[in-house]
Amino acid sequence: MKLRVLLGVVSIVACTNVARGQQTQDPTAALLQEIIRLDTSNPPGREGQIDDLLASKLRPLGFDVTIVPTPEAGKSHMIARLKGDGSKRPVLLAAHADVVGVEKEKWTVDPFGGVVKDNHVYGRGAIDFKGGIAVFARAVMQLAERKVPLARDVIFVVEADEEAAQYNTSWLAQSHWAEMDAEFALNEGGWIIAGDDGKVKYVSISTADKSSAGVIVAAKGTSTHSSMPRPDNAIFTLSRALTKLSTYEFPLQLTDANRKFLAVLAKTSPAPLAGYYSTLLTSTDPAAIAAADREISKDPLMHAIIRNTIAPVLISGGFRSNVIPGSAEATINVRVIPGTDPKEIVRQFEHVIDDPAITVRLANPSANPSSVNPSPEDNALYRALEKQARATFPGAEVTPYLFQAGTDAGAWRNRGVPVYGIYPYPITADELTRMHGNDEKVSIDSLRKGTEMIFNTLVEVAGRK
Ligand SMILES: [Zn+2]
Repeated sequence: MKLRVLLGVVSIVACTNVARGQQTQDPTAALLQEIIRLDTSNPPGREGQIDDLLASKLRPLGFDVTIVPTPEAGKSHMIARLKGDGSKRPVLLAAHADVVGVEKEKWTVDPFGGVVKDNHVYGRGAIDFKGGIAVFARAVMQLAERKVPLARDVIFVVEADEEAAQYNTSWLAQSHWAEMDAEFALNEGGWIIAGDDGKVKYVSISTADKSSAGVIVAAKGTSTHSSMPRPDNAIFTLSRALTKLSTYEFPLQLTDANRKFLAVLAKTSPAPLAGYYSTLLTSTDPAAIAAADREISKDPLMHAIIRNTIAPVLISGGFRSNVIPGSAEATINVRVIPGTDPKEIVRQFEHVIDDPAITVRLANPSANPSSVNPSPEDNALYRALEKQARATFPGAEVTPYLFQAGTDAGAWRNRGVPVYGIYPYPITADELTRMHGNDEKVSIDSLRKGTEMIFNTLVEVAGRK
């Protein structure tokens, strides 16, 4: 035990030396180092630390900065605005300041040290989404530093409570909508995926997020003494229902963005995967489509993008060891493709389970998580981002994308403001697995190129012609 503690101390000292030993000249990477050193693991978050740091850099450049406190001490949102001439409506950039926690002992560096090693910035949030804060911040700061004449205001929102808890952007929008209203917005979402050779294969820009619906599957039986079991045991009944759901798959659902994304994967993937993507898009043979789906869906991300998914997440039943409970229930988290009616999921579950002792209902019947339309691909922001992605990463494919999880884009999309999601730096498949994992990192070169891409996008969309 003591030895482990001692080794821990030694490794932290070593990390600090690495951090001091390797400083970077790149302004985005240097800002990311500073931001990573402010631990905003949520809970509790304490995102105000980042707001204060950024406000001290943005105010001298002419930004109007409002820090919006929440009822929780240390937790705030920042809304910074660089004024344009008002001839066009604002463009907004949003980035969350909180991060998920760490298993510190599994990292090879201090996750809050802002360590630079092998031309990468390491630390919790390097990808999700402190790297995004650094890129967005440096891009908007450059607009001010270079005195780019602006036709529209550029708003930069740094958010609390995206990863957890209640004072998120939906909370902020209730009281501060006028300050965060815009024609369109950038947020986290799609990916700039690089191969192991460092060359960018594709840029995916998310135009919609999957959303989340809770479905309760409940079993009824006779509550009685466990010494005299009956055939209608609620826990057995629930188990049978869950077994049926475990082998059920929702059918393929290819949205417009899905089709475009799969076409890019068909072009950029090695064989035989490329062929499977083509089959999914073009085949009329149900057996060939099912076989391709099985291969493609071995990747959990791909599996999630092309259908509604089913995940039991909570189970309850019983209260003591000698009583057969009269009921048992499971909560199933269903992640739905935009446009899915949650009531249709309930009907499908009833059909699959097909047991009168089971009832299926929505955990929150009034919510319709999937009523939001995908953001369009025919406005100035999407077109500028697409053009600059091609210019920054020559040869890369650019595609819209359905994001497999939820983000804080809902605060804007729910009000009809188009949001385009991107993690604005090339990352490899290996780096992607480190997000929310251990040794999260992003390369300095990726941060530099991402800043260039976002800056040029903003000049194009907001600059006075
Ligand atoms: Zn995130």
